[in-house]
This record gives sequence, structure tokens and C-alpha cells, in this order.
Amino acid sequence: MTPDLTQRLQALVGRELVPATPAQDEVNLPMIRHWAEAMGDANPVHLDADAARATGREGVVAPPTMLQAWTMRGYAAHRDGARPAPAAAELTALLDEGGFTSVVATDSEQEYMRELRLGDRISVTEVVEEVSPRKSTSLGEGHFVTSRRTYRDAAGETVGIQRWRTLRYRPPAAPRARRPRPALNQDNAFWFEACRKHRLLVQRCADCGTLRHPPGPACGDCASFEWDTVEASGAAVVHTYTVVHHPQVPAFDYPLTVAVVELAEGTRLIAELVGTAPGEVRIGMDVELQWIDADAELTIPAFRPARAGSS
Ligand SMILES: [Zn+2]
Repeated sequence: MTPDLTQRLQALVGRELVPATPAQDEVNLPMIRHWAEAMGDANPVHLDADAARATGREGVVAPPTMLQAWTMRGYAAHRDGARPAPAAAELTALLDEGGFTSVVATDSEQEYMRELRLGDRISVTEVVEEVSPRKSTSLGEGHFVTSRRTYRDAAGETVGIQRWRTLRYRPPAAPRARRPRPALNQDNAFWFEACRKHRLLVQRCADCGTLRHPPGPACGDCASFEWDTVEASGAAVVHTYTVVHHPQVPAFDYPLTVAVVELAEGTRLIAELVGTAPGEVRIGMDVELQWIDADAELTIPAFRPARAGSS
């Protein structure tokens, strides 16, 4: 039976991720001083030999939490000198195969076997210690991968151990962004409310009968504030159009064809053209209404090429 991905990941336990890597410098006072100052560690046993001897030590000792610092390399040294072990690439490849391409460090534990003294030469190796079964987390599905770094002195004695636990997870697909909301006010809200019922309305002056769009409070012809509406048939022609490539808003698909369409009733509105490629659009082509129910709150009219005989 073919082992599943989890079994193949767990088969890496015990494999070496980083071969024995010596520290570039022996344990030394200047590095301790920088660390102690950066961390605000005022314990005199780290910098003052007399104070250290007064505690029964032979001399100053490095702060235990500095363990990792001794074998850390600068970027250039890492780039030019690092030789990752094959298991490191295998681990990454297996995680990639499962789609577990995101990583977040979850915790680190350190154990100290003895204090480090000036002149100690430290080296480190790193192995895969544990790969968890697949877990569901709030970030996504993934595996917790624990690696163990063992720090040794020149005699090969273990002076400290550090465990790194990371979650390697599959990033969940981002939900589709919502379309921008219209700026609703008391003059235009009725129009968008009608859209939600799949009714395309045209505002009409109640005094002179002139149709108008977009909705507004007064008639442009006679200045009357009185109005009612007529319902558009949905038949229209392309008056003009443009194809939007940039800037891109996540809610839309690009290239995005946007047209000024002239309704059979005579008013024009701006709407998306759907069901047609940008190169197929012609000024004057017959189009018909197609509703876009964008989400629970927003329905907007779009237009598609009119089916033969429908206009
Ligand atoms: Zn009027």
C-alpha cells in the first residue's frame, strides 16, 4: 500500500536537516556584552569575572538564552556556506505537495545542560523530531513540524537543546471580495431596492413625463419635484463602451467591459457587459438585461448580447 502524505512526512523523523555546523566564533565577551545590553540583562556573572567567581563559577558565563546566537550566521555566510541536508528539501517538497505552503512559528523550547564559558566552541545539528498528524487549525489544515537543534561543545558533549515548532499549513482560499456598495440616499435608494426585485426602473417626471437617469430629486426639463417610475423592458443598445484593464478591483473579472447602454425607453445607464468578449462588442449592438445578484445585499443590472429575435 502506498504510504499517504502524513506517513511520508513522518518517515523524515530523525533525519538531519542541518549537518553539524560550527560556530564562527568561540564564546566571547564582546558578543555577550552586546546581547546583555540589547536584552537589558544586568546580571554581573555575564560580564564581570570577579562577580562570577564570587558565585563559585570559574569566570563569566554566557546568558543561557543566548544559546542560538553562537551558531547564527550572517546572511552572506548563510548564503555562501550553508549546505542544507537532503531531508530539508524533501520536507519542503512533501509539504508543497500537500499544499502546506504557509508557515508560522508556534513555539520554541530550550534546555540547558551547562553554562557556556569564554572559549567554548559550539556547534549545532538539527534533525526532524516530530511531524504531527494532519490538524485543523484556525489558520487552515496542516502539520506541526518540530525540529530539534542539539548544541555541543568541542568535546562533543551536549550543552543545550532547542526545539522549534512550526505549523506548515494550507492557506485557505480567500473569499471573493464584495463589489463596492453604491452610495445610497433618499433620491436613489428606490432604484437599487427595485434592482433587488429584478425590476429596472426609470424615473419619470409626473408633470411633463420626461424620463431621467440616474435618479435625482427634480426634473431637468420642468424642475418639478413630482415623479413616478416606469419599468424598463430590458432591451437596449450599446451607445459606447470601454474595456477596463487597470486599475483592478478584486470583486471584478478582467478585462472588464463597461458600456453606456441606451434603453429602449430612451434613457442611458452605465453597466457591465457580460457574455461577450471585449473584441466582439460593437457600438449599436443590441443587448438585453441580465441581473447580477452580487451578494445578499446587492443586485445590479448588466447587459448581454441580445438573443436573435429578442429585440
Ligand atoms: Zn418634468
